[in-house]
This record gives sequence, C-alpha cells and structure tokens, in this order.
Amino acid sequence: MDKVISLTEKISFTPGESLLEISYLLASILFIVGLKMLSRPETARRGNIWAAIGMGIAILTTILFHRNSEGEPISNVGWILLAIAIGTGIGWLIAIRVKMTAMPQLVSFFNGMGGAAAALISLMEFPHISDNLIAQYGMLNGHVLAILLGLLIGSVSFAGSMVAFGKLDGKVKDIRSKVLRFVNIGLLAFLIGFIVYIMSLGEVDPQSIMPLIYVMFAVSLIYGVLFVMPIGGADMPVVISLLNSFTGIAAAMGGFLYENQAMLTGGILVGSAGMILTVLMCKAMNRSLTNVIIGAFGGGGAALENEEGSIKETSVSDAAIMMNYSRKVMIVPGYGLAVAKAQHLCHELDKQLEESGVEVKYAIHSVAGRMPGHMNVLLAEADVPYEKLLEGEEANEMIDDVDVVMVVGANDVVNPAAEDDPSSPVYGMPVIKARNAKNIVVLKRGMGKGYAGIENNLFFNDKTKMLFGDAKDTIQKLIDEVKDL
Ligand code: NDP
Repeated sequence: MDKVISLTEKISFTPGESLLEISYLLASILFIVGLKMLSRPETARRGNIWAAIGMGIAILTTILFHRNSEGEPISNVGWILLAIAIGTGIGWLIAIRVKMTAMPQLVSFFNGMGGAAAALISLMEFPHISDNLIAQYGMLNGHVLAILLGLLIGSVSFAGSMVAFGKLDGKVKDIRSKVLRFVNIGLLAFLIGFIVYIMSLGEVDPQSIMPLIYVMFAVSLIYGVLFVMPIGGADMPVVISLLNSFTGIAAAMGGFLYENQAMLTGGILVGSAGMILTVLMCKAMNRSLTNVIIGAFGGGGAALENEEGSIKETSVSDAAIMMNYSRKVMIVPGYGLAVAKAQHLCHELDKQLEESGVEVKYAIHSVAGRMPGHMNVLLAEADVPYEKLLEGEEANEMIDDVDVVMVVGANDVVNPAAEDDPSSPVYGMPVIKARNAKNIVVLKRGMGKGYAGIENNLFFNDKTKMLFGDAKDTIQKLIDEVKDL
C-alpha cells in the first residue's frame, strides 16, 4: 500500500515539472542519437547539431521550469543569460577563427573548460550540503562523494587539458624523470586518502572544513599538471581521450548531485565514450591504462641517430611516372597533410591515378595527426569515399603487394623503430609498415622530426625516395605531371 501511495505522489508533478522531465528525456535521446551519428563522417555534422539542440532544450527548460525545494523559480536568470551570451560569443569567435591545424589544441582547451566547470560546481556546492543529510549520515553520504569526486576529476581534467593544450601548441615541453612517476603515485594515493578522510569526519559543518577542500583542489590541480607533464613521445592521444572521459565523469557527478537526468546522461555518455576510446587507443598504442593514469610512459629511449644508409631524393616527374604505372598505390597521410591543407589535392591526385587504372587506398593510423580521427575528418571533408580508407591492421595485411606507398606528412606512424628499437619511445606502438611495400615515396618539407621527436630510419631505407617540399605544392605538381602522362 505504501508503495502505491508513494508512486501516486511521484506522478503528481506540476505541468512545469512534467515538461522539465520530458525535456530531459528528449535531450538524453538527442545526445544518444547525436553520438551515434558521430560515428560516421557523413552524419557527424548533423549528429553534432542534434546533440546541441538537445543541450539547448535542456538549458532552456531548466531556466524556465526549474523550482527549488521551496518551489521558487530560478532568480538570477538575467545573469545566466548574460553568461550564456558571453560564453557563446567567445566560443563562436574562437571556433570560426581556429585553423584546422590548431583544432586539437582547441579541443583540449574546451575539454579543460568542462573539467573546470565541474570542479567549480563541487567547490560551490560543498558548503551547501543539506543539514538533514549530514544529521542523518554524517559526511559518509553519496552527495559528499559525488562532490569530492567531481572536484578531483574535474580539476585533474582541467589542469591536464591545459598542459596538453600547451604541448599540442608546442609551448610546453615534456619533463621526463623517474622521480615524477613516484611523485604521481604519491599524489594520487594522497587524494584518494583525503576523500576517505573527509568522508569519515562524521557530523561536521561543511563550511568549517572548506580550507581542507581548497587544499584538495590545489593538490588535484598539481596532480593534473604532473600527470600529463612526462607524457610525450607518441603517447599524447591516449591521455587526451582519457582527459575527455574524465570531464564526462566529472559532469556526471554534477548530474547526480543535482538529480538532473540530462546532465547525468550527457556526462555518462562522454565519460563512457571517452573511456572506450581510451581503451582502443591503448590497444592501438600497445600501452596499459594503469601506466597512463600514473603518467608513467612516454619517457626513456634515446633518439635513433644511427642512420641506415643515406637519403635519396627523387623528382616530381619520376615519382609521378612510378605511381601512374603502378597497379596499387597506398597513401599514408599524417599530421603534415593537415598542416599543408593538402587533403583536397590528395583526393584529386588519387582520382587522377584511378583514371589511369591504378587502385588507390589510404592507410589510416589511429593516432595520425593531432587528434583522434584527425585523418578521417580531413579526408571526409575532401569527400574521399569511406571505402578507400583502411585501418592500420588492414593496410598492413596488404602492404607487401603495394607498388608505391606515398607517405604524405606522416612520420611517427610509419617509424620502424616501433618494431626494431626497444629503447625508442615509440617502441611497441603498431605502425603502418610502409617499408614492406615495393617502393616508398615520402612527401615532407625537410628532415623535420615528428611529434615524438625521434629519427625515422624509413627515410634512409633503400626503397625510399624523398620528395621534399610543402605537401600541397608537391601534390599539385604531381597532379600536373600525371595529367600529362
Ligand atoms: P608526425 O607529427 O609524426 O610527423 C608529421 C611530419 O609532417 C613531420 O615530420 C613534418 O616533417 C611533416 N610536415 C609538417 N608540415 C608539413 C607540410 N606542410 N608538408 C609536408 N610535410 C609536413 O605525424 P604523424 O601523423 O605521423 O604522427 C602523429 C604523432 O602525433 C604521433 O606521435 C601521435 O602519437 C602524436 N599525437 C597524436 C594525437 C592524436 O590524437 N592523433 C594527439 C597528440 C599527439 P617536416 O617538418 O620535415 O616537413
């Protein structure tokens, strides 16, 4: 009987509350649909719009219909709208001005802002934990845990993302030291111990322990910085997707705290999608997640300085002839393709070669470029058909039979040191085995190193011919040559 009564009570929502509940449900569905659509380049743009509409609905209905426990509406609507307008304006300006090559930094920056927002929610809400809850359970309750975890994870995500932003922008260098690994383990243990300590305090006034919460905030920020600092080599992508997932989890803590289903669903989706991506990235890089969390990899390994042979340059016309009279050509795009903005011309060259009867495929390494899916995004923008894109493993299976591999601005993702040199920072990372093809043509500006900052013996391989210059200029010249053949 009790149950029937409480159920009936729950159903008696005011019209505003009902609309709010329905809008959260709708927003959650739109998030899920949007996320699903992000999995294909052709639908990704629309997916983003659907998810943004979901978020817009959730924000609008919250402002209009939310009531606090006394039944009062939100009072500072003017300030909220002003903050939304300023945030939207700044975000819009940054987004339209950002260069495609600076996109990864921007993603890291925006992710950091999400983490900061989650951490600030925790800082603001801690002093307001309900007296009833504390009288009943002391500090050992779900709200306190959600606030503390939100603070820890949000702060780490914010500080870590800012360091990642600096690294991707080339302004922050890796700091590698074995000591740092132990410092990180110590800090993490301290933070977990701190949460346990606070929750064991019993019935205290949250206001009175705010200084402790600020200490935790500061230590979390320090941990966020130190955890990303040593990670270098080719391992940044794993950390970036992990930080992304952290922001989602921190937002989900906020959703739990406010009993806000849209925030909870959004946070869980970002958190779990980010975590799945992190696990896939770890697999792709042959790393373990535990090592990522204590910031323990990416260091060590002297650069490969002992070159095997000498660099051999080729001319545009020789390279064009070689590719035009091949059966199979495989293009391996990398970060340099993004820098040169050569994706459209690359597709034009591939169509030109196919007109000459050459089969052209693209080998896409999961961490090529500077953000997950970077190459897929660029090539989709240039309308390269999805069927032409091969994932690393698939590409490697057929590479022995490829007449020419054309490496366009890729370096680390084709570095044989990943297989040959146990002391190399990229050792163990699966790479595109370009050296197994019959011929290799490398398009890059000079002998600049890749993100990992190490030598690449592929460029010294007997089968490799270097075609120096900006990838866009070189590809344009190749197109002109192939047309004349
Ligand atoms: P790399 O950074 O290893 O190499 C890019 C190469 O492109 C450079 O050697 C550079 O050589 C060349 N290049 C730059 N500009 C041009 C241009 N205009 N025209 C022609 N060539 C150019 O790129 P990869 O894609 O091979 O590897 C990605 C690396 O980034 C990996 O180490 C990965 O771990 C890391 N990373 C990836 C992230 C991700 O999420 N995907 C995130 C963070 C890091 P030169 O100067 O001689 O032209």
